This record gives sequence, structure tokens and C-alpha cells, in this order.
Amino acid sequence: MKKYILLIVFLFICFLPSPVLASENVDISKETEKIRKIQVILEKATNIINNMANKYVERENFRNIMEERIIDRIVPWGHDKVLGKRDIDTIVVHSIYDALGMNPYDVDGVMYELAIYDVSSHYLISRDGLIYRLVKDNDLAWHAGRSQLFDGRTSVNRFSIGIELLHHENDSANDFQYNALIDLIKYLQLDRRIKHITGHTDISLTTKTDPWNFDWIKFNTLFNK
Ligand SMILES: [Zn+2]
Repeated sequence: MKKYILLIVFLFICFLPSPVLASENVDISKETEKIRKIQVILEKATNIINNMANKYVERENFRNIMEERIIDRIVPWGHDKVLGKRDIDTIVVHSIYDALGMNPYDVDGVMYELAIYDVSSHYLISRDGLIYRLVKDNDLAWHAGRSQLFDGRTSVNRFSIGIELLHHENDSANDFQYNALIDLIKYLQLDRRIKHITGHTDISLTTKTDPWNFDWIKFNTLFNK
């Protein structure tokens, strides 16, 4: 924003009418035209600044809403602490359910299962669209296993954030989950450039098949709305 303010000042100085001595013949129409041009420039610059300010407020409001919405349940397992800043440009979408308990959609059951296998994604989205944060974004979560992205990079955990959708293999994510996933990814994009959004099955070098029954066309349509 600073550079736009400097630009306005610069333009103002450039177009400032030159001082006119009382004895000189003043061409009033020319001076008026100059002032009109300055007014147009200032008006345009003000609009640019207002738009930028509105976008900034909108963005920060969205950030605050999401930070209130995300439920922290940071786990002690399934990840490495990262001290420096981790470069993240990929989101990996997964599916998971509680295969050990009575209710496949039980969040606590899934947490227990993750603990047993000593793995974790950064986020888990429950059936009702609640977003749980299990691992901090900057830490390296163990969610993708042996993996390779289509650009050739391996060990996708290094540069990605993993998001689990809670649903059974025979089921698919519901609308609460699609909407929460999109909001979450847009939130994650506020502070970093996400270049790839992919499914676990598309990067897995083992036999992973999730996210199950994920509708990428629906996702992309909602995402770009
Ligand atoms: Zn997975």
C-alpha cells in the first residue's frame, strides 16, 4: 500500500501547476484542465487504495473466522517438529474412518487409531464439517507415506499439508465436509502459495486408494465459485 501512496504523491508533484507570476499571462483554461487531470488521477488512486483496503479487511476477517473455527487437538505422535520455516506448496486430501470401534465416524476413535499407527495428518474434518487441527502447519506430519508428486519430488510429507476427511470407504465426503475442506484450503492459502491440491492415491507409491469416491469436479466447481 505504501508504494501506491508514494505514487500518488509523485503524480501530484508531476502535475502540480507551475508557479505563475502575477505579471504573466495566465491561460485559465489550460490550468483548469491540468487541475481536472490531477483530480481524475487522485480519484483513481483513491479507488485503488480503497479496494486494496477492503480486500485486506475481508482477508483478515476470513482469517479470524477460520482461526475461531479450527479446533486445536494437537497430538504428540505422528509428526516431526520443524524448527525453521517449512516450504509448503501442496495439499494432500485423504479419507479415514475408525475401523476399530463401533462407529466409523467417531473422531475420538480415529484419533486412537492414528495414535496406534503413529501417523497423523495436519487436519481432520468430521462428518458435521468441524475442522480439527492435529499437527501444526509448519511441522512435518506423517500422512503420505512413500510418495511422489507428478513433478518428480518424492517424500511428499516434506512439502505438504495433509487433510483427512472422515468417512467410510463405501461412502463419500458430504457437503459439510466439501465446504469445510474448501474453506480450510483457502485459509491455508492466505500465508503461502499452494501449487498442487492432490489426493493421496495420486501420489502414493504403495497401495493407497483414498480419498474414496472424491468428486474432483464438484470440488473444483465449489472451490472456484
Ligand atoms: Zn491417505
